[in-house]
Amino acid sequence: MKYDYLIVGSGLFGATFAYRAKQAGKTCLVIDKRSHLGGNVYCEETEGIHVHKYGAHIFHTSNKEVWDFVNGLVPFNRYTNCPVANYKGELYNLPFNMNTFSQMWHDVHTPDEAKARIEEQRREAVEALNGREPQNLEEQALCLVGKDIYKKLIKEYTEKQWGRDCKELPAFIIKRLPVRFVFDNNYFNDLYQGIPIGGYNKLIEKLLEGIETKTDCDFFTEYKESWREIADKLVYTGPIDEYFGYQSGKLDWRTVSFKTRIEETANYQGNAVINYTSHEKPYTRVIEHKHFELFGEEVYKYPKTVVSEEYSTEYKPGMEPYYPVNDERNNALAEQYREMAAKEQGVIFGGRLAEYKYYDMGPVIEKVLKLSL
Ligand code: FAD
Ligand code: UDP
Repeated sequence: MKYDYLIVGSGLFGATFAYRAKQAGKTCLVIDKRSHLGGNVYCEETEGIHVHKYGAHIFHTSNKEVWDFVNGLVPFNRYTNCPVANYKGELYNLPFNMNTFSQMWHDVHTPDEAKARIEEQRREAVEALNGREPQNLEEQALCLVGKDIYKKLIKEYTEKQWGRDCKELPAFIIKRLPVRFVFDNNYFNDLYQGIPIGGYNKLIEKLLEGIETKTDCDFFTEYKESWREIADKLVYTGPIDEYFGYQSGKLDWRTVSFKTRIEETANYQGNAVINYTSHEKPYTRVIEHKHFELFGEEVYKYPKTVVSEEYSTEYKPGMEPYYPVNDERNNALAEQYREMAAKEQGVIFGGRLAEYKYYDMGPVIEKVLKLSL
């Protein structure tokens, strides 16, 4: 059997590609080295709850074509991400909005009062800049929201997450955090947001329906030398440096690890995501998975709950490569590999590992929908 495409990786890039190829009348074989399909959106069922094994995944997009595409496969629920921050036991709504400001400063009740307080809080930092742009994350944060919010909600969380002092981190990391003078705890600005009803595995099942798949199958041991004998084209979604045998050097990644446990209560923390913003706790956040799919009284449908502590962890070979590292060495090395990839005949490199690029799920699907097959 000769396939039109051998697709390496059954994450959202590979699975969406396979779906579209099948619709276009092409044949595909999808392989994955893991023992399951779905890549990082895969969920494992425990106590009736879908546990996001590779970290919490919330689908959000403003692209109607992408939203209609995924909802055409499986309807999405109304989940809206509203994380809460816990600073030494004090609770604050995120992202920074009127709820946060009134919790931080009890004499602040209106947008004008909040603006005046933030102006006062950021004055010192703005004056110190003397007209120049913020050079690091600390300067950027102090100029954005001032010292109280920086101290309680940003500094230690960011240091835990990145393992470096805020003065040594680039300013852009914090720029994407919304600051709002309305009472709105929705973390994302996108038009559409939710979780597939029945979990992400349903979405993957729909994408791969009727397509030949093979798990526990590593491209490098099984097909690297022989793929041209079984397929016309290759779609590769694994790490780009690995494809080229690391010949120009290894790319670095940032990773996270999880400690997951069952709690003997129906409702452990009352929210899907609680960020721990002080050094008091070693983890950055705690995820309670059932809140992604069960709302209000539905939470009590199951007597137990599953929670995961998330730790920012230094990457070592053998760990899951999660986020690209945006420094000079890695950007230059990735560019070198991208140039090599562009010359590779009959191979499409796509997704977060093969492009060495941080991609949310929406943009991954958007990218595949735009490809001509
Ligand atoms: P992946 O899902 O990683 O799939 C790649 C697949 O290739 C894997 O299954 C892997 O096993 C397989 N593979 C690799 N090498 C080989 C090989 N040699 N042989 C065979 N198979 C191979 N996005 C959002 O929109 N919202 C979120 O809330 C969100 N949260 C996230 C949280 C975390 C912790 C992380 C890391 C990412 C998050 N993302 C989120 C991003 C989301 O995970 C990605 O957009 C999506 O997974 C990209 O899909 P992909 O197919 O490119 O990669
Ligand atoms: N951040 C913070 N406090 C929080 C949440 C986020 O200081 O409670 C900062 C932190 O520097 C983080 C950045 O905002 O790296 C971006 O956060 P986001 O949640 O968007 O990123 P993710 O955790 O998904 O990588």
